[in-house]
Amino acid sequence: MKIAFFSTKPYDKEFFEKENEKYGFELNFYETHLGPHIVNAIENEDAVCVFVNDRLNREVIEVLAQKGVKLIALRCAGFNNVDIDAAKELGIQICRVPAYSPEAVAEHTMAMLLTLNRKTHKAYNRVREQNFALNGLLGFNLYQKKIGVIGTGKIGKAFVKIALGFGAEVIAYDLYPDQTLLDLHVKYVDLDTLFAESDIISLHCPLTPENHYLINKESLDKMKNGVTIINTSRGNLIHTNDAIKALKERKIGLLGIDVYEQEEKLFFKDLSTTIIEDDTIQLLMSFPNVLLTAHQAFFTREALEQISQRTLKSIADLLKDGTTDKEVLL
Ligand code: NAD
Repeated sequence: MKIAFFSTKPYDKEFFEKENEKYGFELNFYETHLGPHIVNAIENEDAVCVFVNDRLNREVIEVLAQKGVKLIALRCAGFNNVDIDAAKELGIQICRVPAYSPEAVAEHTMAMLLTLNRKTHKAYNRVREQNFALNGLLGFNLYQKKIGVIGTGKIGKAFVKIALGFGAEVIAYDLYPDQTLLDLHVKYVDLDTLFAESDIISLHCPLTPENHYLINKESLDKMKNGVTIINTSRGNLIHTNDAIKALKERKIGLLGIDVYEQEEKLFFKDLSTTIIEDDTIQLLMSFPNVLLTAHQAFFTREALEQISQRTLKSIADLLKDGTTDKEVLL
């Protein structure tokens, strides 16, 4: 069986080749994203394995179907980049990795919050230059702050538990409140209440047509002045230009983003010797109270092991008899 991997990096190859010792598939690794520009070059592949910034729209999926591809395996949790209806109509199965170390993303979320809050990124640079002054490094306690969590699925829940460990008060919004969090005295509120009351807001819901630009001028206006916002979920949950305006107006006090609206042109690449033409990200990077990481939240050894294990198991099951565990199928 042949599987074409797109958007691959050396670490993908390392973890998948190791796991593939159990299966003996033919794995072909391509660095390029899968999209209209490359899909015609695919020949004799049983499955394609894609990541967050591959774009599988109807046009791409139609060509995959013509080429005899039977399966799209997403090696990530989110699936907003795949036209699911088109794949279903054309008889291509889709699987994903719904859970791979939610703690990896939750811990990175807290790392971003603590970095911004206690300015450790600035302290690190200062001390290396023998500047031991504290001016400008004043932070605030998380203890007894109100943290609003939007989306309390696997990652949101892991983050809530970490936040509770810091002695923060957690309020949450989700379409389906989680009983274990209710038992931990987490209060579910409506979105407007969460916006109005939270000192810190952390986004852990998937990107859907309904919540596209959830954080925009209108919702920002409802928030406390100086609110901290962390987004480790998907870039399009935040209207970036509205967020920039809110940073200039001091409405947003701290912003941590691991995901960015236009990330597919930038993230996972070393662009250190090129001129970046995206003025918006350049402006964001210039703010002292903005922390950007490049879709790194998932990136732990444990998560990569689980991604390769789950993905190859799903592919093996589906290509063999068309079924696998229900929760991985879309
Ligand atoms: P999950 O499916 O376990 O949980 C998502 C939760 O969001 C569910 O409880 C769902 O009811 C809720 N939800 C759906 N729509 C909502 C809305 N409009 N408002 C509020 N809540 C809503 O997913 P998860 O594993 O916790 O992952 C969450 C998201 O994290 C993924 O969709 C993905 O976008 C993102 N993610 C990012 C990284 C990273 O490296 N930065 C890695 C993995 C996942």
